Amino acid sequence: MTKNCTDCLSILTLLNQLRDELKVGTRDLKLCGQGAKFLHARHTTEGVETCRVVVRRQVAKWWNDPKMREYLVLQTLFRESNFDRYASNSGPLQLTVREMDNKTAGDAAADVRKRIRYIREINRQRADFNLEPFPEPEDPDGR
Ligand SMILES: [Zn+2]
Repeated sequence: MTKNCTDCLSILTLLNQLRDELKVGTRDLKLCGQGAKFLHARHTTEGVETCRVVVRRQVAKWWNDPKMREYLVLQTLFRESNFDRYASNSGPLQLTVREMDNKTAGDAAADVRKRIRYIREINRQRADFNLEPFPEPEDPDGR
């Protein structure tokens, strides 16, 4: 039933895009099992936009943490006992997905440039909270 829910799909797609951009894990997450049930329950009761905010914020917080990045999955993000905490976190740490139609598969330099842009966006937001910036990869254009 949840497999055909367009709201579940749109939230899952956002999470997979961010995981892909930031090289979290090696394969796309699927709508199945407990995680899919949690996701459907959360967007039904809390709203799709809140779910998207939680995805953006938790990815921004965890993607670069070798331990926490493992938890960027449906089971953790949308479990009821976790979700309230994630949703009520204050702070603007959110990522936006850009260039969705501008895939750069196979272009390693473009891939690095995109990664640098993400990290800069995250670092701008981290600076507002006086958090240490994440290190940037070397710019392939030497800028
Ligand atoms: Zn759903």
